[in-house]
Formats: sequence, C-alpha cells, structure tokens
Amino acid sequence: MTTQTHDQLLSTIQDALKACGYTGSLEGGNLQTRTPLTGEDLFKIQGTTKEQATEMIAAADEAFKSWRDVPAPRRGNVIKRWGELLTEHKHDLGILVQVEAGKSISEAEGEVQEMIDICDFALGQSRMLYGKTMPSERPGHRLMETWHPIGVVGVISAFNFPVAVYSWNTANALVCGDTVVWKPSEMCALSALGAHALLARAIDDCGEDQNISHLILGDRTVGEVLLDDPRVELVSATGSTRMGREVAPRVASRFGRYLLELGGNNAAIVSPTADLDLALRGIVFAAAGTAGQRCTTMRRLIVHESIADKLVDQIVAAYKTLTIGDPRDESVLVGPLVNQGAFDGMQKSLEAAKEQGGEVLVGGNRVIVDDTEKSFYVEPAVVRMPEQSEIVHNETFAPILYVLTYSDFDEAIALHNAVPQGLSSAIFTQDNSEAELFLSASGSDCGIANVNIGTSGAEIGGAFGGEKETGGGRESGSDAWKTYMRRATNTINYSGELPLAQGVKFL
Ligand code: NAD
Repeated sequence: MTTQTHDQLLSTIQDALKACGYTGSLEGGNLQTRTPLTGEDLFKIQGTTKEQATEMIAAADEAFKSWRDVPAPRRGNVIKRWGELLTEHKHDLGILVQVEAGKSISEAEGEVQEMIDICDFALGQSRMLYGKTMPSERPGHRLMETWHPIGVVGVISAFNFPVAVYSWNTANALVCGDTVVWKPSEMCALSALGAHALLARAIDDCGEDQNISHLILGDRTVGEVLLDDPRVELVSATGSTRMGREVAPRVASRFGRYLLELGGNNAAIVSPTADLDLALRGIVFAAAGTAGQRCTTMRRLIVHESIADKLVDQIVAAYKTLTIGDPRDESVLVGPLVNQGAFDGMQKSLEAAKEQGGEVLVGGNRVIVDDTEKSFYVEPAVVRMPEQSEIVHNETFAPILYVLTYSDFDEAIALHNAVPQGLSSAIFTQDNSEAELFLSASGSDCGIANVNIGTSGAEIGGAFGGEKETGGGRESGSDAWKTYMRRATNTINYSGELPLAQGVKFL
C-alpha cells in the first residue's frame, strides 16, 4: 500500500525532471503519458511531428560533418560527463523509470547504473577504436584497416528498458563519432525527457554541439521517419519481433544498416546434478522478476524428470510468497504489467496453454491493488506442459513460466533450441561436461548462454543480443562498437615500384 497521492506523484515527477535539467512544458501537448503503477494519466506533453523529426535528422546529419573529426578521446569526454550526471541523478531518473515502467526502485536505479557502466566502458573505448595492420604480400607495402564514423544513428527503444538500451547505443555511437536521433517508447516519454536532458547538459558542459543528440517523442508512425530517411545510416531497433519484421525490410530496401534486438523466449535446463537451492533462486528471479517484462525473462524451464516434481513444488511454494503490488512500497517484489494489452495477452496465452494440455500450477489471477481497476497487476504463473506445443514457442510479455521435462541431455538441448527466438539461455548443473556441451557449437543456439545463473541480468561488458528471430544484433560491450563504424582497408605503397597482387602482370 503506497501512501503517495496522485498529486504528490505528479509533483515527484516534476521535481525529478527538473533535477535532470528538463525545462520544457508538461502540459497542453498531444502525447498522453501514463503510469502502470496506478493506471492513471500523468502529463500531456508535446509530441514530435514527422516534419520536426525530419528536421532533427537533417540537423544531426549536419552536426555529423564536424563531430566525425573531433578526436575520439574528446568525444569520450561528453560520455564521461554524462556518466557523472547520471551518477548524480541516479535516483531522479530511477523515479521516472519506476513511474513509467513499473519497476521496483532498486531495479529502476539498477537500470540507471547500467547507463553509468556503459558510459565508463565507452569512455575507455574512445581511446581504443583499434584497426589492425596485416602483412602485405607485396614488398614495400603496408596493409591496414581504419575505422570511421558512419553518420546519423536512429535509436528506437522499447518500454521495458526505457533508458538503458538508449545509453548502450548512444554512448558507443557518440564516441565512435556518429550523431544520434532517439525515438523512445511512447509509453516512457518522461523517462526519455530526463535521460535526454542529462545528455544535453553533458554536451553543454563540454562545449560541444547540441545537434549531436536529438529526441523524437511519439508512437511508431513518427519513428518510421527514421526507417525511410537515407541520412540515417544505422537504425538500431529494440522491441518485439513484429516490429523487427517491419523495420528490417524497410531499412534494407534503401541499403541502410540495421541492428535488431527483438523478442526472446529464454529457457533454463536443470540437470539432476544441479544445486537446487541456487537454481530455485535463479529461476524465480528470472521468471517472476520485473513481472516477466524483461527481454531475458525466463519463460521455459526444461527440467530432468527425476527432479521435476521436487523442483516444481519448490518453485510453486516460492511463488506463493512473492509480494505483488505497487513497487513504491519497497517490500514489493512484483510490480504491474504495463497495460491492459499485456494482461489480456497473458490471459490468452494461459487459455491456449490449457487447451494444449497445460496445467496452471500457480498464479495467473489478476490482483487488484489500491482498489482500482485501471492498473493491471497479476500473479506470476507456472504452467506444467505435457510436451512442447505451439504456445511454448511464443513470447508472451508477461510472467508465465512453462515447465517441460526431459530424460536425456540431447533431448534437453533439442527442446531448448526448438523455439524461433534465440536471446538468452541457462543451464543449472554441477556436471562439467554438460556445462561445456551447453556452451559448445551443438549446445545452446542463443546469443547469451549462462551456467549456474538465470537468463536475465546481463552485465554491460559483454556484447548483448540474440540469434534467430531475436534479430542477430549486438549492443553494449565487447566489440559491439564496430556496428557504429565503417571499416576501410588501406594499402600504402612505399616501394617506388608497382607490383600487382596475385603476381598479375599488366603493362
Ligand atoms: P514494441 O515492438 O511494441 O515497440 C518497441 C519500439 O518500437 C517502440 O518505440 C515503438 O514505438 C517502436 N515501433 C513499433 N513498430 C514500429 C515501426 N513499424 N516502425 C518504427 N518504430 C516502431 O515493443 P515493446 O512492447 O515496447 O517492448 C517489448 C518487446 O521488446 C518484447 O518483445 C521484448 O522481448 C523486446 N525487447 C527486446 C530487447 C532485446 O534486447 N532483445 C530488449 C528490450 C525489449
């Protein structure tokens, strides 16, 4: 039970936005903001028109012509400053994320921490945009590669990580010398205003051009401007597979580049040798945490038949202890679904699961919080399925964990890889050969494969992304920066002769 009134919530949001540096209006606009915490409307802010979005792209394209020649370590200073401001305003931005994405304050601030971490990473990267030197087959020649900025990067992001995914893209893109136009989720416009304002302050503090960063507010129709404008060299789009199917062919039709981070259908295999206490904690956090609204949420459990009943009983018991409610109450572990569409989608999937032979062991019911039907809270569900069936192949963006059993390890891997998505995966085992097989080429087919931890909660140091219908993109750490640059292969002849490659003779 939260004691904050609606008016108090509005003034908390205003204070947080002001602290982040947002000075614009919060009323009289055409874009209605809303909170899943209570289901109430918040402010009506001004959305961006398609014409304005096109002007932003033009301005970012113009700014690119100077930004690309700014030394990369100096570009890194903007990101360093952004990281400092994010650290200072971690709670302010965390509040905005909590209000719009419905997360606990610990998870919302954790999301801002992820932004701070990628700023640290990208700052270092700004001094490490390395190219290789390769031995030339010709005497007196040097062969090497250089990496150059590509231009305007369009970032489209989803509601469930409203600011972190933006920063993964933006921190890397800016140090690489690109400029950024961001179209956040229409459900999280206030968080976007806060995150964008902090970057604007960082740019200002470093004396750089504000046109290196732009924010488009509105729904998919205004976001579509990014898909069709040839000045947008790369579209980095995070969201549903449905969205990716629309984005990819449109951008490809103009030979633009795209980076897709789409839906997941993440599973964990639990072997008979697993440490069950550890597995239990890993499973419950990954499956029920964030009300099942992480792209890496665990949606399938593939458990050996000899331990299935025991483990499932423990999971059901743990689910019964989960506190569900408004996460402004810090004792709450499971917050709201984002809207009625998410709730209806969950109910539909539970019905389909039952028709396909599934048994709902716990959860699935709506929870009315603070006497209002405007918000959508739900008990996380566990459904035991007799076999792999159609519903298990779909991502339902809500807390449903399907349980399947296996008898031998090959069967577990086959069940694991049988879905069209390929984001995150895990195995709980104390058997080293099983762990190695899971990580091998014939093991998990996902972009993320973990041993003895759940499917969610990635660190920024690794490249993040997935295979198959998850889209194949990689963001964040490792060498993901290369996606934001173009590579040139250079041959320099200092021999005074003109030997041709492959020994070809001409003239
Ligand atoms: P969504 O696909 O409805 O929307 C995502 C973003 O795309 C929004 O900003 C939306 O306005 C925009 N959009 C939608 N259609 C578009 C189009 N045709 N052209 C241009 N823009 C368009 O997704 P959502 O409900 O906000 O988020 C949940 C989904 O995102 C889940 O499927 C989840 O798995 C996925 N997700 C994936 C990752 C990942 O890294 N793989 C991360 C977070 C979320």
